[in-house]
Amino acid sequence: MGDIYFVDDSEYKNPETLALHGGNYRFDPVTSAVTVPIYRSTSFQFRDTENAANLFALQEFGNIYSRIMNPTNDALEQRLAALEGGRAALSVSSGQAATTFCLLNVAQAGDNIVSSTDLYGGTVNLFNHTLSKQGIEIRYADPLDPAEFEKHIDDKTRAIYAETLPNPYLRVFPIQEVSDIGRKYNIPLIIDNTAAPVICNPIEHGAAVVMHSLTKYIGGHGAVIGGVIIDGANFDWTADPKRQPLFNEPDPSYGGVVWGEAVPQITGHNIPFAIRARVCLLRDLGSCLSPDNAFQVIQGIETLPLRMRQNCSNAERVVDFLEDHPKVERVIYPKNYDGVVGERAEKYFNGGFGALVGLELKGGIEAGKKFINSLKLFYHVANIGDARSLAIHPATTTHSQLTPEEQLASGVTPGYVRLSLGIEHPDDLLSDLKQALET
Ligand code: PLP
Repeated sequence: MGDIYFVDDSEYKNPETLALHGGNYRFDPVTSAVTVPIYRSTSFQFRDTENAANLFALQEFGNIYSRIMNPTNDALEQRLAALEGGRAALSVSSGQAATTFCLLNVAQAGDNIVSSTDLYGGTVNLFNHTLSKQGIEIRYADPLDPAEFEKHIDDKTRAIYAETLPNPYLRVFPIQEVSDIGRKYNIPLIIDNTAAPVICNPIEHGAAVVMHSLTKYIGGHGAVIGGVIIDGANFDWTADPKRQPLFNEPDPSYGGVVWGEAVPQITGHNIPFAIRARVCLLRDLGSCLSPDNAFQVIQGIETLPLRMRQNCSNAERVVDFLEDHPKVERVIYPKNYDGVVGERAEKYFNGGFGALVGLELKGGIEAGKKFINSLKLFYHVANIGDARSLAIHPATTTHSQLTPEEQLASGVTPGYVRLSLGIEHPDDLLSDLKQALET
């Protein structure tokens, strides 16, 4: 095994190849096993006391204890960093943990984050309830107009947060436009790319950090909950020391180290975000991904580019079918938007427009319920990004706690149904949708 924690430039750039070969893992150095083994060990033997001291002082990188690092997880992290065009990654126990780490890695009580309004509901709860009670203020900006983000920035703004492809609107986020605004103030853009792996590369468009819920397309088989943070290594954390105190002031929890300076010196890579998240936040909060789950996710990644292709092409087939159906009022899909929103889908997506499709049924709430209950092949679950096709009626499930006015404000009309297209044969998907619409 080569270096741990970070990846160098790969000679391969294509996602199909990186999904199988990205990162330093080639084969197990002891057994020659090609498939990444599950290293089910809590702790790792030190060579001698000098080696132990160096590992703790970050003068050498190696395995100490599986809460903070594990060789199976390391292979997963490097593979994901390579796939997203980053340099280092940190796997954690869920997408929610990944989002929490992203914010706690830059913000303390009294600081603020400027966030897009278009977010997964769990992220909104985390921001509005848990993190705001810890004194981190979240200021919301409408992603339709990138200039809105600038209006909320002040001296205490530490990051901008957004999702690439948020549902129910499925409007692609203006990544480069907002990243450029942030960079004027030395503020990083952190992007949740859960709904668009492979087809969108936010780091290429200026995002400093990408996170994913591994639970969705990357795991891909509905078997694992997990999350990852990927450091793009493209952001200067020390350019304005007052802007990023956690990277520029001595850290008393780690012998006074200044993360923004020390990490590039030790690793040769500009990855203080990933390293600090690992050795401070994962050390303290403990929400690590088990090596068994890391192994499962690696199996998922190996077919991710293939699956995404089929997920996306099934979505396009379904969009074409629904657009012509008399019981469907409207179909929501990234490339269906006119004007600047549709142009963003073309600009930022490559090889497909995602596998989430919204449809508004004529006949409102009753039509929505009837349709869901009539589906035979689609699973009725609160999830996205599975190999199987999934459907949900938000007005009676995920958004049922909201008033009808609040539902409308969040883009959920009474007859809205969200589909997450899997990789089944498109003809079978179309015939299931057809029979459910005609029931
Ligand atoms: N981000 C997005 C866009 C999601 O859809 C989800 C879950 O649905 C999460 C984050 C949270 O991920 P997890 O369920 O793995 O905690």
